[in-house]
Amino acid sequence: MRLCRFDNNRVGVVEEDVVRDVTAALDGLPAYRHPLPSYDVLIANLDTLRPRIEEAARTATTLPLNTVSLLSPVANPGKLVAAPVNYQKHYDEVLANADLHHNNQIAVIQRAGFFLKATSSLIGAGQPILLRKLDRRNDYEVELACIIGKTASNVPRSAALACVAGYCVGLDITIRGPEERSLRKSVDTYSVLGPWLTTADDIGDPGHLALQLSVNGTVRQQSNTNDLILGIPELLEYASSFYTLYPGDVVFTGTPEGVGPLQPDDVIEASIERVGSMKVDVRTAL
Ligand code: MN
Repeated sequence: MRLCRFDNNRVGVVEEDVVRDVTAALDGLPAYRHPLPSYDVLIANLDTLRPRIEEAARTATTLPLNTVSLLSPVANPGKLVAAPVNYQKHYDEVLANADLHHNNQIAVIQRAGFFLKATSSLIGAGQPILLRKLDRRNDYEVELACIIGKTASNVPRSAALACVAGYCVGLDITIRGPEERSLRKSVDTYSVLGPWLTTADDIGDPGHLALQLSVNGTVRQQSNTNDLILGIPELLEYASSFYTLYPGDVVFTGTPEGVGPLQPDDVIEASIERVGSMKVDVRTAL
């Protein structure tokens, strides 16, 4: 199932080029009061709610997909976890280029671990990336994003995929420079998730998915998740050995080689096999 959030916080099921508005099925969510949970309540209840969503989809109002504005499919992630260097060829290109590493210590993921991106940086495919610090390099990075479905702490790799709700195409937009990653990658609009959440049952093994990014029609990144240094099960084992992963938490799995700068008015097209494809506009934050 392809689950999207669109327009004024509507929830939809995407089938080919239409969206079926299933927002009414969310009446099945438990009632929450302050303090609200620090995880995403729709993702946490997705298994329970899924029959209602499928029932609602059968009689739902349909809208052409190209007429809706897509928001992040996860509304309230508790954290955005990200792998810094998880493709060997990206490691090689960063080490070779001072514009990328700025004399920061660069290590592969087994040494570097993870960083966190602010949840306030998150947008969906229908919202523009608003560039800041235009005197610096602002780079695109396409990544498979894994959405946690079940609470996971110290989960072994053999059980990790059972904790995944689904997958999105992720963009980890980055200002290059000497500061900590968590600052340079947490700018408003610098985390993109979309175009929708493709549930894990539609993907199966996430370890063999082609991914691609183009800017203004020119292909810049092209790889496959079978080139990940740590695959999804290993990443979830590693991350959950430090902190509990909650429903709606996002794990950006790292970008392959081919990163490069963005300019205002660029159009990014990012796709991952079986997950989806999205176009995202780039503008300037005024
Ligand atoms: Mn990245």
